[in-house]
Amino acid sequence: EQTTVLITGCSSGIGLGLAARLAADSARRFKVFATMRDLAKSERLQERFGGGCPETLELLQLDVTDPRSLAAAAQRVQGQRLDVLVCNAGVGLMGPLETCSEQAMRTVFEVNLFGAIRTIQAFLPTMKRRRAGRIVVTGSVGGLQGVPFNSVYCASKFAVEGLCESLAIVLRPFNIHVTLVECGPVNTGFLQNLQRADPEGSELQGLDHETRSLYRRYLRHCHGLFRDAAQEVEEVLQVFLEAISTPCPPLRCATTQLFAPLARLKLASPDGSDYVRAMHDFVFGPGDDGGDQP
Ligand code: NAD
Repeated sequence: EQTTVLITGCSSGIGLGLAARLAADSARRFKVFATMRDLAKSERLQERFGGGCPETLELLQLDVTDPRSLAAAAQRVQGQRLDVLVCNAGVGLMGPLETCSEQAMRTVFEVNLFGAIRTIQAFLPTMKRRRAGRIVVTGSVGGLQGVPFNSVYCASKFAVEGLCESLAIVLRPFNIHVTLVECGPVNTGFLQNLQRADPEGSELQGLDHETRSLYRRYLRHCHGLFRDAAQEVEEVLQVFLEAISTPCPPLRCATTQLFAPLARLKLASPDGSDYVRAMHDFVFGPGDDGGDQP
């Protein structure tokens, strides 16, 4: 029998890759409901199948910030029991906190946190009744540790960690597995798609020189990190496949060990000061408290 999988945010990046990979499974083990906010953006996914849509793939409109579109998608899937829900839709927001607009902050939480909550709420009752199911959530290193100039994004992804950890406990007796796939930098359009303060733009005009200079240095660090250490989508898909297929997936699966030393530091020194120092040095260089001079 086919495993049914619904994925949010399938017009690009990880969601697109996962939908294509599962739908193209040679043993046709999966039936994929690939959902996206704007169905007009489904060409890239369909291109993977020569422009068409195989029987293993169904496209659905789903904006995770719109309860009505969520209800419609849930209604559509209801007939066929859902085995795996993948909450993947997400947006980033980068810049000094002072420059984050109310609107931008709300969007990040609407998509990353409330979007995931709503989507889970829509499918949880039937999973509970069946006493089976999996909820896979695209997590982030930014949900496990503070990353500079990503404060609002980190806040939303930290919140997702709490959401999943709490749910996992209650869902255990229902035989529903919750798994966060913790991604480091991945080569997708994420960096281009995220809302970001332009270091030379007007938003930063009123900001102090030191913060502006730190932000410029962070952006250089970030681009270097993506250039040198970003994983390809195919690489992280492997971890998603494991979360979908292994009998008892853990609450957290990391796609990379790149940030493991920093994460260990948080555990080793719970007051947080070692982590703050180490992350500062990792991004801005050791023994430097800011400014443009090396
Ligand atoms: P991406 O920008 O290509 O994909 C994000 C997808 O979410 C897009 O297809 C976008 O259209 C969709 N989306 C945004 N708002 C939506 C809404 N309201 N309703 C439905 N869909 C919506 O980037 P990605 O890297 O594939 O991101 C996927 C997930 O991976 C996100 O949750 C992101 O936070 C997480 N992540 C990415 C990275 C990275 O470096 N790329 C690192 C850690 C975590």
